[in-house]
Amino acid sequence: MSNYTYDELLAAVSVADGKAAVDPATGEVIGNSPVQTVAELDELIATAAAAQPAWAALSDEERSAYLHKAADAVEASAEALAELLSREQGKPLNGPNARFEVGGCAAWLRAAADTPLPSEVIIDDESGYAEMHYRPIGVVGAISPWNWPMMISIWQIAPSLRMGNTVVIKPAGTTELSVLALVKVLNDVLPEGVLNIVTGSGRTIGDALSRDPRIGKLMFTGSTEVGKQIIAASAQNVARLTLELGGNDAGIVLPDADPAAIAEGLFWGAFINTGQTCAALKRLYVHDSIYDAVVDEVAKFAKNVPMGNGLEEQSLLGPLQNQGQFEIVDRLVESAKAAGARVVLGGEPDRDAPGHFYPTTIIADIDPQHELVLKEQFGPVLPIIRYSDLDEAIKLANELEFGLGSSVWTSDREQAMAVASRLQAGTTWINSHGGLHPMVPFGGAKQSGYGREFGVEGLKAVAEPHVISGR
Ligand code: NAP
Ligand code: MG
Repeated sequence: MSNYTYDELLAAVSVADGKAAVDPATGEVIGNSPVQTVAELDELIATAAAAQPAWAALSDEERSAYLHKAADAVEASAEALAELLSREQGKPLNGPNARFEVGGCAAWLRAAADTPLPSEVIIDDESGYAEMHYRPIGVVGAISPWNWPMMISIWQIAPSLRMGNTVVIKPAGTTELSVLALVKVLNDVLPEGVLNIVTGSGRTIGDALSRDPRIGKLMFTGSTEVGKQIIAASAQNVARLTLELGGNDAGIVLPDADPAAIAEGLFWGAFINTGQTCAALKRLYVHDSIYDAVVDEVAKFAKNVPMGNGLEEQSLLGPLQNQGQFEIVDRLVESAKAAGARVVLGGEPDRDAPGHFYPTTIIADIDPQHELVLKEQFGPVLPIIRYSDLDEAIKLANELEFGLGSSVWTSDREQAMAVASRLQAGTTWINSHGGLHPMVPFGGAKQSGYGREFGVEGLKAVAEPHVISGR
């Protein structure tokens, strides 16, 4: 296992003649990733398929040991991985950002390694006997996004390998070097052919991967729009699907909450990774009686959180990852301003500055039906909506097609549980938003996707259940 420096890692994955990877903080080119063809993808899938029987034939303990070795390898090169992630994705080294993400990769590898999925006896009585076994599916196709490129790739890779599948992964186009480097580090310790990576556009390579008859399972994290295309593409093959799609998470603050006490949690729930997080708090409904106090306290906290180049240790927020995302955020905020919403903080980007920095922005007194509220902004902007009737707030929280996360903020546990039970979402957090744990199932309701990742549910999602019945 190597302990790579940043330069060694970059040299191992960057090619002379490829697609430029651009630092979103400066606009500088940091390296080039290969642009692969459908013919190359075809060979990689063949490699994964050829390697799968021997990988599946290892004992569960042997595969678990490989995943621990993979986690060791990530930890040995953690600083180099974090630096590359910071330069390419833009997220700061510090805070809940690049080093945190690399640490999450090791943690999720170890959790998959330490979670067994043994066969179970389902019935054993006068009515009959049946056991359930969890077999590998075969080759898993994984397609990941650019916001948490390393960690989300690991969420797809780790359980798949644990269950005896082999993998072909396609990272998002703007964060290829990061995932290439991660896969390089993992492949230094994994057997050949078990983990394969392909780079190229979603429309060609991603689509070909989704359609390939040798792919038994697709794990996709990205937008709802592309998720729907993947459902259609995979139909030919009846491939199993786990879809982690978009979110527009609502939080509801009840009248008894303490504004000063919840401000920090609200801030990080919304602004983690500069707002580019699927299950970030994207619209906050606050009761009229404490509305002004909550807006003030969140703004007071937000003002002091430094945004800057990710390599500077003091930065806790970074640029948006790409120009397209900057434009989405900029347009939504301009539209809110034009509609008369109140800008409490931010909202005035320097559009001529290098990189894709958008300032931390808090918008108050906004119409609950404004598009900044109804659409996924995916950036450092939080609209705060006033409500006076809790039933109305719950109705607004539930009225969108999304249902990834949600949160309730109150010091009354019973009230929290009562409101949580009425929210349509894969997860409802109480007095926090967005925290994940490798043993707690995570996924979306409604058009935020289907299937669950993590823990035992996550392993079942990359396994083929096989019943053996009779005595
Ligand atoms: P995206 O545009 O849907 O892209 C996601 C991935 O799909 C990329 O690797 C992309 O490749 C690929 N792709 C694009 N078109 C494809 C096609 N026709 N067939 C197969 N693959 C295709 O999403 P994004 O902009 O990267 O990520 C932002 C979205 O992801 C947000 O909506 C966010 O909420 C969601 N997200 C959800 C979760 C979750 O856990 N639920 C987590 C993170 C993000 P290219 O980049 O090469 O186009
Ligand atoms: Mg929104």
